Amino acid sequence: MVDVGAVQGKILRVNLTDGQITKETVPGEVYTKYLGGRGAGAYYLNKEVAPGTDPLGEDNKIIFFNGPMAGTMAPGNGKINVTFKSPLTNTYYYSLCGGHFGAELKFAGFDGIIIEGNASKPVYLFIHNDEAELKDAQALWGKTIPETNKILKEELGGDHSLKIACIGPGGEKLNRMACITAELYREFGRGGGGAVMGAKNLKAIVVRGTQDVNVASPGKLANYVKELYKEFKAHPKVYARRWYGSVEMLEGINKLGFWSTKNFSEGYFAPGEEMVGPKMREKIVVGDGSCYSCPIACGKISQVNSAKYGKILIEGPEFETVGLLGPNCGISDWETILKATQILDHNGIDTISAGAVLSFAMEAFEKGIITEKDTDGIDLRFGNGDGLIAMLEKMVKREGLGDLLAEGVKLASEKLGAPELAMHSKGAAPATYDPRGCKGMALTYATSSKGAHHMYSPTMGVELAGDRFAEKGKANLVRDIQMQMAVVDSLGYCSTMRFVYTVDKQVDLFNLATGLNYSKQELLEVGERILNLERLFNVREGFSRKDDTLPKRFLEEAMKEGPSQGQTIDLQSMLDEYYQAMGWSEDGIPREETIKRLGLY
Ligand code: SF4
Repeated sequence: MVDVGAVQGKILRVNLTDGQITKETVPGEVYTKYLGGRGAGAYYLNKEVAPGTDPLGEDNKIIFFNGPMAGTMAPGNGKINVTFKSPLTNTYYYSLCGGHFGAELKFAGFDGIIIEGNASKPVYLFIHNDEAELKDAQALWGKTIPETNKILKEELGGDHSLKIACIGPGGEKLNRMACITAELYREFGRGGGGAVMGAKNLKAIVVRGTQDVNVASPGKLANYVKELYKEFKAHPKVYARRWYGSVEMLEGINKLGFWSTKNFSEGYFAPGEEMVGPKMREKIVVGDGSCYSCPIACGKISQVNSAKYGKILIEGPEFETVGLLGPNCGISDWETILKATQILDHNGIDTISAGAVLSFAMEAFEKGIITEKDTDGIDLRFGNGDGLIAMLEKMVKREGLGDLLAEGVKLASEKLGAPELAMHSKGAAPATYDPRGCKGMALTYATSSKGAHHMYSPTMGVELAGDRFAEKGKANLVRDIQMQMAVVDSLGYCSTMRFVYTVDKQVDLFNLATGLNYSKQELLEVGERILNLERLFNVREGFSRKDDTLPKRFLEEAMKEGPSQGQTIDLQSMLDEYYQAMGWSEDGIPREETIKRLGLY
């Protein structure tokens, strides 16, 4: 047992091929060198998944891992990480999920779960206070996320404290954009983790736990947290996030002309002025929700009563979903956005990736690359909500053109001979910020180990306070925020907490919980180690500078109008600076001295 407070020190290893479940002690270095969460995932995936592994094959693994702060009294510690090789990007992939699943796993006595092998028929994993068993899930196959939750709770005695992470038909049908859904609406959203689970015939993981989490200095931690809560109460950003959710960000990016519109061909969406935080609150929000131990409660419950679709009640939508299924498809009505979100959520498919492939298909339709013959008569022009819903349903069922779209925007666009219309980096779609309007985000999308992802280094807040169009000098900002995010994601904090408590306070909380004595610099070095380990995984898969790229549209087509007019991206000069800042070669490979300094290999 390691001498680190707050952690349970053990994980479950579940081999689906032979049905063996073992409890395993976690090596101390997983906590001291990688912290847990995202860092622990990087450690295990590099060690246990061989180069060239098929993401949907038996040899891929799914690694769920909590951060050391999970289940403690620290605010916003409800994020658990899952790591796998992605069927969408073929890269290393990690994905974080809020809600209560992570804390419950900790209360059940485990820091993580490693899933390996493939089951011969559908199963689910039931974990309850130090025990675990595989159970038959054949009757659950084909069921949606809400149906699966309902049936499992009934089957397991009607216990509503059970926390469930499961896949829907999207994952079962190996849709490369399928997510893993915890509870009803919290997702390990991107990268196709749901398809990896589907390929393994693993329908769900159900957890129940009532054990303690023993922190090193409970009294001091309680006092520290008490003071922190006062800061939450007084912080202006908290109010906006609590009242409007993440959608509060959309107003600014529309005004500044970099809101993804019509497959990123424009940066301002006039009807979008009715879709920003206060408007959403007024028109569709009927309640609020929160993850475990969160004083912000940014979750929104939304409802529309539609003549076409009846009552639609969902959790969300988040700003990325609104952006990608809304303006990026030319859609401005809440009815269509909520219906599309509901279909995707119930089937366990990521809304960002789905919005990206649908907006690609809409542009291809407008340009005549695909016609009504290909769409089975669906009019797929931008702005046609009925067309969007009809094609989305085909994608969920994998029918006709929908079967190809389920492969994700990169593969689908290549098969249709229109890769120049696909907005992605390494196969993953960017969120709703057009990087031409915020250059650090361009470097973020291009260098992320999992393909375009805004949370790999969310530089936007800093950039908006300075020169958002500057390219020179952004490399250091991107590197620094990447390190900070690797720490946040490995400790198990929600990234939104960074508004209120920055790295200094994260270090204090970590030391009080674990009994370790890290400095800020030491913790950031852990972040750097994790970034390099993720990079090394991709290097051995053949990724290098050539893959750190962006769609030609971002690099060569100037923003047409508005406050970001005229902007393109000089990515190569930013990459040069970034590789230098990271201690990598001109080709983006970590140098020997960097690897040694960080104690890797
Ligand atoms: S801020 Fe939102 S996403 Fe983050 S922990 Fe709180 S409720 Fe969850």
